[in-house]
Amino acid sequence: MPRRTAVDTLEEDRLEPTIRRAMLAALQRWARESGRALPWRGERDPYRVWLREVMLQQTTVVAVVPYLERFLTLWPTVSALASADEAAVLRAWEGLGYYSRARNLHRAARVIVTEHGGAFPQRAEDLQALPGIGRYTAAAIASFAFHQPVGIIEANTLRLQTRLLALTGDPRTPAAQRRLWDRADQLASGATARFTAAEINQALMDLGATVCVPKAPRCSECPLTSWCRGAQTGIAAELPHLAPRPVVTEVTEATVAIVRSGQYLLRQRQAGERWAGMWDFPRFPIPDASAIATTLRSEVAAQAGLQLGELVELATIRHSVTRYRITLRCFTGTATGRLSRTETWRWLTLEQLADYPLSVTAREFVERLRTGG
Ligand code: SF4
Repeated sequence: MPRRTAVDTLEEDRLEPTIRRAMLAALQRWARESGRALPWRGERDPYRVWLREVMLQQTTVVAVVPYLERFLTLWPTVSALASADEAAVLRAWEGLGYYSRARNLHRAARVIVTEHGGAFPQRAEDLQALPGIGRYTAAAIASFAFHQPVGIIEANTLRLQTRLLALTGDPRTPAAQRRLWDRADQLASGATARFTAAEINQALMDLGATVCVPKAPRCSECPLTSWCRGAQTGIAAELPHLAPRPVVTEVTEATVAIVRSGQYLLRQRQAGERWAGMWDFPRFPIPDASAIATTLRSEVAAQAGLQLGELVELATIRHSVTRYRITLRCFTGTATGRLSRTETWRWLTLEQLADYPLSVTAREFVERLRTGG
């Protein structure tokens, strides 16, 4: 028997026009009755769509709303964002995490202004050429803002489409992704003036989020049951078969607030480091938790040329970064000597830090310093 190829499989997934029309009609009826009432429903401004979609990556709707409002107040247009300082953008982003998203937003705003005259490209392929804009964000802007007939695969539609196709195996492989995106594009290509690509994509995301839910899909309430291979073969609830998450690693780090004449020593994190562009108290990995003070003294001497005096432990903050669960031990202390490198270090008061972008844990440390623990 000849081996099946990805192309054969795409052919099998092709929707007959009559079937696509029937699926979209059922989806539209459902969306009218049961679609989510999101704050940005119907939004067509590409700048607003772009901001919210970048913010929504790895973040919930509830968490995104205040950040979106703050960004739009500070920088109401893409030109305003392009003119902003990167530090101000990082400061406004503080707390949302994955700070490369904020740096890329700023870089892309500058490219849109300098290379596209301040107007967003309309086609998904052109949008994808901008910094930090992947296939999902490009498709979201193209369909929501410009009603281009392109589909969307994100967490909810990945699950939904995987079940509709009864796709076994990891849906994140390139071959599976090709099938999922192709199916999403086929559905969006059935857009009409009465059910636009934006509405189709939103309806599919809503359906994935509220009916085709991860553990127990509610197939009896689903408008697409008749066309769902996963439901028909009884394997929907087992899908998608995602690769296991990486194992969590426990890590200890220590940070020290070195104070001199009411000012604290901070360092700007450099390109290639975690939280590049943000400011931070000296912070170091601690390979041996019984030798924290020794490690802090030798690292501060090596990196800043200062000799730490007595150290006082003020707090322990626990947080996670990707697959690392970090225990951060926070110290205060004084130091003697002169700073050996001044370009990336600054003495700042706690009040001045209000204007500097800090990591969430550094900001929490500032609060502890202010309140004494
Ligand atoms: Fe998901 Fe069930 Fe609908 Fe299939 S029928 S798309 S499994 S909710």
